[in-house]
Amino acid sequence: MAHRAVVTGGAGFLGSHLCERLLDEGFEVICLDNFLTGRPDNVAQLIERDGFRLVRCDVSDFIHVPGPVDAVLHFASPASPVDYLQLPIHTLKVGSVGTLHALGLARDKGARFVLASTSEVYGDPLEHPQREEYWGNVNPVGPRGVYDEAKRFAEALTVAYRATHGLDTAIVRIFNTFGPRLRPNDGRAIPTFIRQALRGEPLTVAGDGSQTRSICYVDDMVTGIVSMLHSTHAGPLNLGNPHELSVLALARWILELVGSASDIEFVSRPEDDPRIRQPDISQAQRLLGWEPKITVEDGLRRTIAWFRDHPELV
Ligand code: NAD
Repeated sequence: MAHRAVVTGGAGFLGSHLCERLLDEGFEVICLDNFLTGRPDNVAQLIERDGFRLVRCDVSDFIHVPGPVDAVLHFASPASPVDYLQLPIHTLKVGSVGTLHALGLARDKGARFVLASTSEVYGDPLEHPQREEYWGNVNPVGPRGVYDEAKRFAEALTVAYRATHGLDTAIVRIFNTFGPRLRPNDGRAIPTFIRQALRGEPLTVAGDGSQTRSICYVDDMVTGIVSMLHSTHAGPLNLGNPHELSVLALARWILELVGSASDIEFVSRPEDDPRIRQPDISQAQRLLGWEPKITVEDGLRRTIAWFRDHPELV
């Protein structure tokens, strides 16, 4: 059982929930973040807790952690299209050089390494739902290539460290995840729709809204990630909620749950935006006994409640 964990990107949306869960499980947690897309506020409630340390650093420059480390969870990376389209070179660097440094730390310390990969490695998929065996349909020179290819490179590097150095590694392919601490203006559909609904502004649906997404509540996702950490599996392993819905249906649902009279406005679809997205999670069910427990509706209600509690962000 591991006792000391390093979480890169730990002050981000997912990373902050992960740090909290690891502390709850009795880990000491060292959170490394440069606050590029994350915020110290996301972990403010953890600062007072025993065993939590927040260190400001850019993991693409270097990583230095004194003392023993049992687990390295590499979550540092811009993750929303708005962020990585503004930060293309940073995104490629943290997926490549940052991953190299995180793997190097795990190798130095003899720690288990968990890579936060993404469903975006499947690109605009030609198989549905997406199984781990599917190689994907990614445009390397399209705008989203900076994120998709960085993560594909990170996966290849992780596999190479396992094969060459015998490192204990795991890859999780995370599908769209939502919950408290998403940035309302990070461009992802759920925080955007909730913010617009709360402000009484039109909900901006891309294209005709028929493209689908499968969305997983953050608590379920963190449970899956931590189960993978505790296992001996290498992955890649899909983690996500197979509940698939169109973006238009999602917008209408959020309007109803917020009780908002906002209109829906159709705007142009971003280049290479995936048309369909749904995880096949049968491997996670079989290997980890994991599947999401929180319904999408319950997750949306909790997320909306959090946004209502943080009007300063909306
Ligand atoms: P986020 O932007 O909220 O968190 C990323 C964190 O990494 C931020 O705190 C940011 O400041 C930090 N960071 C970025 N570059 C860094 C660097 N060079 N050095 C140190 N810290 C750096 O995004 P998120 O949604 O929490 O995503 C976290 C991870 O999970 C990412 O690797 C992302 O690719 C992956 N992921 C997330 C989702 C999702 O739906 N949220 C889906 C698939 C994969």
